[in-house]
Formats: sequence, structure tokens, C-alpha cells
Amino acid sequence: GPITTDMNTLTQEIDKFARDKKLEIETLKIREQYRKEFFGNVSHELKTPLFTVQGYILTLLDGAMDNEALREKYLIRASKGVERLTYIVKDLDMITKLEVGDLSLKIEVFDIVELIKGVFDMLEMKAHKKKISLIFDTNYSKPIFVNADKERIQQVVVNLIVNSIKYGRERGTTEVSIENLIKNKVIVRVTDNGEGINKVHIPRLFERFFRVDKSGSRKEGGSGLGLAIVKHIIEAHDEKIYIESDFNVGSEFSFTLEKTK
Ligand code: ADP
Repeated sequence: GPITTDMNTLTQEIDKFARDKKLEIETLKIREQYRKEFFGNVSHELKTPLFTVQGYILTLLDGAMDNEALREKYLIRASKGVERLTYIVKDLDMITKLEVGDLSLKIEVFDIVELIKGVFDMLEMKAHKKKISLIFDTNYSKPIFVNADKERIQQVVVNLIVNSIKYGRERGTTEVSIENLIKNKVIVRVTDNGEGINKVHIPRLFERFFRVDKSGSRKEGGSGLGLAIVKHIIEAHDEKIYIESDFNVGSEFSFTLEKTK
């Protein structure tokens, strides 16, 4: 009769509901795990510079303040620690906005050649400290106009060049080139002849907080978020990012952009 049919439908519906709920709970569990890992990483990243700053302040209070030379030295170091905390927090803010989808792109037409030259000027001192030459083919005397979020693309270029300097060898080179791809695309390459990356690490390179050498990278500074930010920005543009690297030979990071006709 109609009652049994209804009972069957009801049982089926209950089953489906239970299955959906189970799936939902699994998804939530994974998300919760991800969230825990993220916050674990964040507090870990903040702890190191915080302890450093606190250490110098305590040493100063403990008597080092009376010694003029030590006073200045420790204050400078404490201030460096605060600086480091500041850019970690800035990177965290950026990655959060990118992941929540809170960061709308401001697409405009700009000259990528000029942008790269500007970034070179900005990073010249940093490169000079390691005697690294920044090379940008002088064939690029003419502008190349692209359609993208200028500020975000500048951040991509900065992050990639900063890495090529950080992980580059003394007296090495960082070379940037732009090439026409199919149709309306260009590809920007940042190549170094530095320490390179072992093939096994490449799949995890764009993960938040992933570092090949934890201690080594920390000495070089950096939040461990640079490449995660780069990937997010490029993907938000619907563009592609590539990496080629050989351990002890060097690395090449490249990304595509839309060219205006
Ligand atoms: P970090 O703040 O550690 O530099 P990134 O996200 O920018 O964080 O980079 C992640 C890791 O990828 C680095 O710790 C380093 O091990 C590796 N890496 C990035 N760029 C290069 C490069 N040009 N050459 C060699 N290793 C690199």
C-alpha cells in the first residue's frame, strides 16, 4: 500500500542524508586538519623572531644597556627581528586574502619591461652584497604592454628575483628575459645559476611554509610564503607558472602574461 512505499522512500532519503552528512564531516575534518597545520606553522614562524627580539631586550635590561657599543648592536638586532616579524605578518595577510578570494585584481595595461627595470633598481643593492649580476637583455629597449594587475605582478617579479639572489651563488647571475609565446601571450623567465633544487622537492615547492633547507633558508630570511604567494597571484590571473631546476646548477622560474595587441 501507499504507507510501505512512503516508508521505503523515507528510508532511502535517510540513507542519502546520512551519506551526505558523512561526506560533509569528512570534508570538514580535512579542512580542520589543514587549519590546525596552518596555525601551527604560523605560530612556529613567529616564535623564532619573537624570541630573538625578546632575547636582545632582556640582555639590554640585564646590563648591556650600560655598554655603548653593545647597546647599539643589540638594538639594531632587535629592530631587525621586528622588521622580520613585520614582513612575515604582511605575507600572511597577503596569502590569507588570496586564499579567501578577498583580493580582487586591478587589471590594467602596463609595460612589463619598465616594471622589470624598476625591480632591478630596487634590488641592485641586495644583489651587489653577494656580487650577483642582474642581467636584463638590452634588446628589450621597446616597451612590451601586458594586461594584468601591475602591483601584484611586481610582487611576483620581486619574490622570484629575491629568491634567485638568496639561493644564488656569490658572483653568480640572475637573468630575466621575456619571450613571445603563442598568440597574445608572453613568458617571463627568471634564471639563476645558484644552488638549484633537488627534483624530489619540486612538487612541494609552492606549498605554504615549504623550504628545502629549513635552517639555511631561515638564515637567509623569508617567510616561506613567497612562492605560495607567487603561485596564487599567477593563477588568479588564469596564467601559468613553471619551474625547471637542477641541483647545484640553477633554477628557472617562468610565468605567462597576456599581451595587449
Ligand atoms: P623562503 O622564504 O624560504 O624563500 P619561498 O616560498 O620563497 O620561501 O621559497 C620556498 C623554498 O624554495 C625556499 O626555502 C628554497 O628552499 C626554495 N627556492 C626558492 N627559490 C629558489 C631558487 N631560485 N633556487 C633554489 N631554491 C629556491
